[in-house]
Amino acid sequence: MAFANQSFLDIPETYLFSMISRRVDEVLRRRPDLRILRMGIGDVTRPLPPACVAALHKATDEMADAATFRGYGPEQGYLFLREAAAREEYQARGCDIAPDEIFVGDGSKNDIAAFVDLFGQHNRIGIPDPVYPVYLDSVRIAGFSPLQVLLLPCTADTDFALPVPDTRLDILYLCSPNNPTGTAMNRDRLARLVAYAREHGTLVLFDAAYEAYVQSPDVPRSIYEIPGARDVAVEFRSYSKTAGFTGLRCSLSVVPRGLLARTRVGHDVDLHRLWLRRQTTKFNGCPYIVQRAAEAVYTPEGKAQVAALIDGYRETTARIRAAFASLGNPVYGGVDAPYVWVRVPGGMTSQEYFDHLLERYGIVGTPGSGFGACGEGYIRFSGFSRPADVTHLEEVLRS
Ligand code: PLP
Repeated sequence: MAFANQSFLDIPETYLFSMISRRVDEVLRRRPDLRILRMGIGDVTRPLPPACVAALHKATDEMADAATFRGYGPEQGYLFLREAAAREEYQARGCDIAPDEIFVGDGSKNDIAAFVDLFGQHNRIGIPDPVYPVYLDSVRIAGFSPLQVLLLPCTADTDFALPVPDTRLDILYLCSPNNPTGTAMNRDRLARLVAYAREHGTLVLFDAAYEAYVQSPDVPRSIYEIPGARDVAVEFRSYSKTAGFTGLRCSLSVVPRGLLARTRVGHDVDLHRLWLRRQTTKFNGCPYIVQRAAEAVYTPEGKAQVAALIDGYRETTARIRAAFASLGNPVYGGVDAPYVWVRVPGGMTSQEYFDHLLERYGIVGTPGSGFGACGEGYIRFSGFSRPADVTHLEEVLRS
């Protein structure tokens, strides 16, 4: 019989979303007429931009014709997408990133979890708390012991931005704009973390899945806006929350040339080469038609449609924020990210407040404790909620 991966068995089960659906079912059994407002899960609710749909149709037709059919694509992704992304996402904003430093993936959850393959077991890894659970779980599944992982508290005192660590780390995960807190690091905070990474030789894994939501002028959309960051940072980007690709799957990982890791005996290794090697071994690419749809995001029509999509989600996020603020709860985030992070009132736990909102109003959030110990005392609401649900939320909270 096969032996199971013990590291996998040792990570705690995630009961969060099964707990949420079980509690909703229980309440509906007792009160079948209660309108449930599902504002917990961070999936998008609006359709794809028409420019992306047109590109999908066109590319599908190409696949139906022997003259234009494509099989396996280039391992790093098609050049048309890498060139468009380098130009529009980076060079247009003054970031020195070339197309051959970009890898196209099939979702940044996969990219982030897969990147752990590149790391040796003796690294000291810093992970903020609260946090998108994929970082910690993928590190633990890869066999890193809990002793090698340092959870770094992020609190309301710093608007949930990570303070500069007071210890040396080999690898540091960062997520800005942040899931779950909905806050984003300003230039000064991010610059201090880049300076820390340069001083200590720390590799930063920067998750920018929500960069499209940034609107404050002093919040960078890419870590490469900080001078010197390309010597210490990998960046992950996703089309999921930018252009509604959660069901299509397309992402970018940026590994600058010259970014180095070390062998155990102290030799330098080029991380770009290592990531290419990993991808060519375990990944066969994002579908051609999906890469064409992603390319359409950068056409004039695509840009206008994506901007309208993001504006729509910004509006629902702002309304959710205002609705909870009107109850007197301290609220965080929701300006540069599509999540609102609400302080639980009256000494309740995250779970108790979740239950209270569900029982009383049918509102479903995500208890902050599900994102780490420092998430206790908060609840997260998703700005991807449907406008009609937000209208109902405003009505019930006013009543
Ligand atoms: N990073 C963060 C912070 C996220 O919240 C998510 C999805 O919710 C992802 C990455 C993964 O996005 P995808 O795999 O859809 O590209």
